[in-house]
Amino acid sequence: MAMGSFFSNKMATFWCLVFLGIAMAAVGVHCQSTDSLGFITIDCGMDPDSSYVDPKTNISYVSDAGFIDSGINANISGAYVVNNMVRRLKTVRSFPNGTRNCYTITPITQGSKYLLRAWFMYGNYDGLNTQPVLFDVYLGVNFWETINITDPSFFYTAEAIAVASANYFSVCLVNTGKGTPFVSGLEVRPLKNKLYPAVNASRSLVLFKRANLGVEDTYIRYPDDRLDRLWSPWSSPLWTNIATNSTVENLSEDNFEAPTAVMQTAVTPINSSILLLLWDPYPGDVNQYFAILHISELFNIVGTNQSRQFNIFVNGILWLGHAMAPDYLFSDSVYSLTPLGQFSTYNITLQSLSNSTLPPILNALEIYSTMSNSNVPSDAGDIDAMMTIKSSYKIKRNWMGDPCSPEDFAWDGLKCTYSHPNPPKVTALNLSSSGLVGEIIKSFASLGALEYLDLSYNNLTGSVPSALGELTSLKLLDLTSNQLNGSIPSVLLEKSQNGFLTLRLDGNRHLCENGTSCKVTPTSEKKKIATAVIVILCVVIPVIILVVIVILWRVRRLQGSRGGTSVNPQNGGFHKPANQNHQDPLQLENRQFTYVEIKNITNNFQKIIGKGGFGSVFHGCLEDGIQVAVKMLSQSSSQGAKEFLAEAQHLTRVHHRNLVSLVGYCNDGGYLGLVYEYMSQGTLQEQLQGKRQNTRGLSWGQRLRIAVEAAQGLEYLHKGCKPPLVHRDVKTANILLSEPLEAKIADFGLSKAFQSETNTHISTAVVGTPGYLDPEYYNTFQLSEKSDVYSFGVVLLELITGLPPIVQGTENVHIVQWVRQRLARGNIEDIVDARLQGKYDVNSIWKCADIALKCTSQGSHQRPTMPNVVMQLKESLELETSHDTTENMVTYNENLYTEVSDVSQNSVHELENLARMSDVSGPSAR
Ligand code: ATP
Repeated sequence: MAMGSFFSNKMATFWCLVFLGIAMAAVGVHCQSTDSLGFITIDCGMDPDSSYVDPKTNISYVSDAGFIDSGINANISGAYVVNNMVRRLKTVRSFPNGTRNCYTITPITQGSKYLLRAWFMYGNYDGLNTQPVLFDVYLGVNFWETINITDPSFFYTAEAIAVASANYFSVCLVNTGKGTPFVSGLEVRPLKNKLYPAVNASRSLVLFKRANLGVEDTYIRYPDDRLDRLWSPWSSPLWTNIATNSTVENLSEDNFEAPTAVMQTAVTPINSSILLLLWDPYPGDVNQYFAILHISELFNIVGTNQSRQFNIFVNGILWLGHAMAPDYLFSDSVYSLTPLGQFSTYNITLQSLSNSTLPPILNALEIYSTMSNSNVPSDAGDIDAMMTIKSSYKIKRNWMGDPCSPEDFAWDGLKCTYSHPNPPKVTALNLSSSGLVGEIIKSFASLGALEYLDLSYNNLTGSVPSALGELTSLKLLDLTSNQLNGSIPSVLLEKSQNGFLTLRLDGNRHLCENGTSCKVTPTSEKKKIATAVIVILCVVIPVIILVVIVILWRVRRLQGSRGGTSVNPQNGGFHKPANQNHQDPLQLENRQFTYVEIKNITNNFQKIIGKGGFGSVFHGCLEDGIQVAVKMLSQSSSQGAKEFLAEAQHLTRVHHRNLVSLVGYCNDGGYLGLVYEYMSQGTLQEQLQGKRQNTRGLSWGQRLRIAVEAAQGLEYLHKGCKPPLVHRDVKTANILLSEPLEAKIADFGLSKAFQSETNTHISTAVVGTPGYLDPEYYNTFQLSEKSDVYSFGVVLLELITGLPPIVQGTENVHIVQWVRQRLARGNIEDIVDARLQGKYDVNSIWKCADIALKCTSQGSHQRPTMPNVVMQLKESLELETSHDTTENMVTYNENLYTEVSDVSQNSVHELENLARMSDVSGPSAR
């Protein structure tokens, strides 16, 4: 559950299972992992291949070794081991390395519904006593929950109900820079498909709260609940607890199968006709909520003059179209198939009808939020192919979870295309120098959208499979320096000779030896000629026209092109300088343009869209109509080719939706140029200063969204890149905006790679832009990512105030000083950009100003990290968004109610922590 989940007092009784985990081919162990109930139960961090049977429940636990191939096993500290503690919490697997580490849980039936639960108990397993520890958990490609471990002696769970989209579940732990992710246990329970009808292939639910009402301290789960849901006890001084020993039946069409042990207890309000439940969504949670109320009459009032009838409202609106009159000892559920709507506070009210003699009754309750399903898994065929490639060559990189999705966690060496809602597909695969041994397997040929395949500098043997010729989009196949033999499949040779494919084969001593042909075979040659003759005969006139055009084009090309390059007429004019070797880091993913092409793209450098230190930036259009920005290094440039190429180098390494993308580059006869995606709304500086034509006045919400996105770009540079990058020139002029005002960080000419994330570096020359320069870096020459944090703080202040970093006046004063002086008087309105016309949430502005001032603290150690900045900005954005929503919301008269029960996690925190580590065992005593 979000925000740190269930704090369970009592540990669970566990079930029977026989596991022999596999985790698909990727993990490489193949065995049975479910019992007759179909449960999968994994004790994480246990010795590999070991298993044990829980003495209370007779359920078998297995080690997680068969489900993952990364991470480190550890025992929790002895100080946290208590009597009767269940064994699964005594060990953890932690993930100090890699941003994303994933378990692959099988066997799973694709299309079936499951309940998944992950357990986390810190117990100071690493001896570092870190508090709090925060990390994210993903189910497949979608964000599940942030785990927030604030107490090392408690255990926390995350639970979800989902339909399996494949024959496995991938559970990934993501390091967000706030502590090392770890996990104690993983459980998967099958559910009948008719249960939890709101869950379907496109909607998963994340548990927020599941409570058994009218109980002080007993947890219920398997075997009392055959589905092994965990029901936490909940009672309140505002309620009367009631109970029965009789069995409460489930109706045959029951969609939830609430166990009788849960339904046998209930609550009714004391001295009131209203039972009210309230909860607030987690800050920043944009997901919607579902509630399920489980209700049964526990008194036999039939034939008496008593009656119990009540209405149920959600935020003042009648939920059920009729009054509820619960049946005696039959479990009924109130739920909906659509979310409750979006509210800053949710309230569910059970209110007796005026003629009802008894108050409302509630036996149990479940609240779920929707899991964000914003990410689409990679193409199923590509996933299979990549998994097979991974296992066949035993590749150990960050290759876990989905290969392309989410985009931020795409596998190393992979480039994918993303065109939502279509599944991402692999377009480039770089396995150069990856120690590959054996034959080239056919799975490469299953990557249908592959354009670039680099298998150079490995120990690949055997022949080149002709199946690679089926890759219709393949533009580059690099097999340099392997041990390949035999001939080259004619289909590849033909493509290469027709200029559709660049083939690199050097360094394969046995390829094409002993008479094996590496030329187009006579038969295919004949076919080609025959085809050519037919084509010539059929289209003589168009061909003549074409020839004339080609001649004219070549003449133009020779005139335009400068010396030192060779044009290969067979590859469509895109060429590679003679001195370029396989190590050119730009070659695989980025397109190389000739100077002539740059001239064509920019229509002879017709439209200048900006000027910077390197020279002018021109508007351009590629053949397919995609707009680009072309930055040419001018001869008189104040910045040199070194910085220019540095920018290109960095941009080929980093890929994130909030960093401007490099489309290609030009290094042709002394002309240096970079081709970027076109950002039609220019720079943030231009927007804030109103310098652009048709400039849009940015609202506070838009400004905050830009801040969040730019911060995410920087977060990626600091935490997502290996080695991390410090940008060194963060400023509003280097934040570009796309048409829908999505922000991307640009200009990596000054960026510097760090070898380690923690070190600071002594830099010989201070670089950056006045007004944004970190004073500590300026004074000490010590560079760290906190210098970017400082500059970003200045950007935030510009967003709030609309002023430049040096505020002009009688005395020019730095924006940090200007803001601090005014805020000291306690009035936020004094600093806010007047153009916002008061249309903002004051708390949101305060929060943002607070972040900005922390970022611009004098000492770098006082400044937050970028992940922290991102998190806080999102909270500020949430305040602004809910402010917007609340203004439009019809408010409900809460004065009507006399009694309030808070459903939030915090309210049950203390209660749930009472019993700490002892598990629920057997039928609970009530
Ligand atoms: P310096 O390089 O000296 O730091 P700068 O960052 O302003 O200066 P450039 O990156 O060369 O310089 O950009 C100059 C201008 O060109 C920008 O201010 C912007 O208006 C425009 N520009 C740059 N890149 C793009 C792009 N990808 N899309 C649209 N416009 C761009």
